[in-house]
Amino acid sequence: MAEKPEEPQASQNGEEQAENAEEAEKPKELEELPPFEIVTGDRLPAFFFKFQFKNVEYSSGRNKTFLCYIIEIQGKETKTKRGYLEDEHAAAHAEDAFFNTILPSCEGGVRYNVTWYVSSSPCVSCADRIIKALQKNKNLRLSIVVGRLFMWEEPEIQAALKKLKAAGCKMRIMKPQDFEYVWKNFVEQEEGEEAKPFTPWEDIQENFLYYEEKLAEVLH
Ligand SMILES: [Zn+2]
Repeated sequence: MAEKPEEPQASQNGEEQAENAEEAEKPKELEELPPFEIVTGDRLPAFFFKFQFKNVEYSSGRNKTFLCYIIEIQGKETKTKRGYLEDEHAAAHAEDAFFNTILPSCEGGVRYNVTWYVSSSPCVSCADRIIKALQKNKNLRLSIVVGRLFMWEEPEIQAALKKLKAAGCKMRIMKPQDFEYVWKNFVEQEEGEEAKPFTPWEDIQENFLYYEEKLAEVLH
């Protein structure tokens, strides 16, 4: 991570110090994480994938967002970056964190093709954040592939998804093959063992069709 948050022990700012007095007493060796915890990495643990990405109809207990990304930068030569983000707190959603930490700006003269595989579709404020990023960076193309639709019955969410589409953001629901793709490319495999094949769960296809129909209705 390039930027570190201010260390509270710096004594110039009395107010901040008072606020962080309790924390400041304990010596901190690592101050790598921002105030809210965003976990990033190359591959996510299989357990998280199996739980968080499952395309169940009701996502109870699945209160995090997992976002796997592929950034293809088409300049003189094409560069590809990939990784994943997970939001731990409500303070910053994974979508927001992506634009804050992974792709804060796009250079002119090159094209950015970004694909996200996200456990669920964005909330209203993340949709706004995405739209702003697309408006600011005309050379950015974003495709979002989602496991589930988040609160799609809410009119504000429906409006937000429509606005996303109007802003040029592509969105579709993860098919069984997409889950398999994420499994192969973004999930940790046991070291030294042959990669375990993806095991689809019951109803994976039905649930995909269910969400696909709902998304089509919303974006109609
Ligand atoms: Zn959000």
